[in-house]
Amino acid sequence: MSEPYEDLLEAAIRHLEERKAKGRKFVHVSMDKLAALRLPLVRSVRPSNIATPVHSPAATVPAFSPKPILIKASPVNSPDIEFVASPLISRETKETAMAALRAEALACLKCPQLAAARKNVVFGVGDIHSPLMFVGEAPGADEDQQGEPFVGAAGQLLTKMIQTMGFTRQSVYIANILKCRPDTPGQSFGNRKPTPEEMRTCLPYLLRQIELIRPRVIVALGATAVEGLFGKTVGITRLRGTWHEFQNTPVMPTYHPSYLLRTQSLTDKRKVWEDLLAVLEKLGCPISEKQRGYFLRGTS
Ligand code: SF4
Repeated sequence: MSEPYEDLLEAAIRHLEERKAKGRKFVHVSMDKLAALRLPLVRSVRPSNIATPVHSPAATVPAFSPKPILIKASPVNSPDIEFVASPLISRETKETAMAALRAEALACLKCPQLAAARKNVVFGVGDIHSPLMFVGEAPGADEDQQGEPFVGAAGQLLTKMIQTMGFTRQSVYIANILKCRPDTPGQSFGNRKPTPEEMRTCLPYLLRQIELIRPRVIVALGATAVEGLFGKTVGITRLRGTWHEFQNTPVMPTYHPSYLLRTQSLTDKRKVWEDLLAVLEKLGCPISEKQRGYFLRGTS
């Protein structure tokens, strides 16, 4: 252990002993802080929690480059606590912290109208140890009903895209900017775009999901997802196909699957596929000739 670390440890022990001597029996520690305190102090070791998607490209995902994970305390409990934890986090700690975050979101009432109208909070689905994360805009009627993102027709297309990349739906992580379906008063069907205010209110959940998952690449599906992440309302046509960065994580914006379903344009399908090929390259996954050729000769 380094000297500064030992000094810090000794100071912490002294402080706790002084408090004990004054009769204090307990100290308040938030769940997030407890999770961070359990993190191992290991350096320069390849983490054992690299996600390994089922198909072959996953087996060759290159060594993960650890970066510090910022764990913020629950805004409900301790809004002022924010600290950088070890770059290596055990699977168990990560799962515990994510379960706590999920429980918090499931009970969330920050948007009273949405909370009153929702059937389910749609938190996210998939492997929280995955290097690849997809972010959409908000749950629709099907997602609200089932409590899972991307389960309707657009979800089926997304699943197909993920499989064509060589992953499975279970081996990536999928979440939305907004965790509750935007309400549609007076309508029993149809979806609406979330308002900027709704996205701002819910964004902390996604931020904390990203902080815990630490994906190596995020795919932002559609203009609203980009707006939610970056606060920009730039057209997706201009943004797609180029790399952006969100909190040190590369982000590839691309068209939303529902747009592809609406247009049925082979050209746009190919553009999305090119974006996903760039994602595979960024992850260091091998790309077959068959994969490179999709949508070039009318394959769909
Ligand atoms: S949309 Fe997000 S912030 Fe609003 S009530 Fe649902 S979980 Fe809470």
